[in-house]
Amino acid sequence: MNHVKKSCLKKYVSRELDVDQQEIIENHLYECERCMDAYFELLENQSISTILSEDFTNQVVTKANKQLPKSNPRQFSPKKAIAHYFLAAGLTVVLMLTGIFQGVLDVSTDHPLENKLSITEQALQQANQLLDHIKGEVNQ
Ligand SMILES: [Zn+2]
Repeated sequence: MNHVKKSCLKKYVSRELDVDQQEIIENHLYECERCMDAYFELLENQSISTILSEDFTNQVVTKANKQLPKSNPRQFSPKKAIAHYFLAAGLTVVLMLTGIFQGVLDVSTDHPLENKLSITEQALQQANQLLDHIKGEVNQ
């Protein structure tokens, strides 16, 4: 079996190859654990800014620039902007979870006979289901 050269994998990770070459490498990665491992290793070594598309990074930087005071433009770091973006994304998940807890409490008022202790259990169960769902989507 012809393994993918590391230099080719690097180009594949940074999307420098044409579609045909990408397809050949992808097909090989599906079949070859060794090259898949090498591929993941390269991915882990890539900085977040190169994995994200340049366009996306620019959008985040532009948005963050608008929100930052203009007095200190030289200290502005695009990586910090991205970190802030993901922080905001994390907050969204927290808000979603809060919504689920609220939903469980609303249901419980419709059924006053329900054991109050189970409300926490239900909430935890739903939160776990949501986390599993998110994990599932990430793994796809
Ligand atoms: Zn291989």
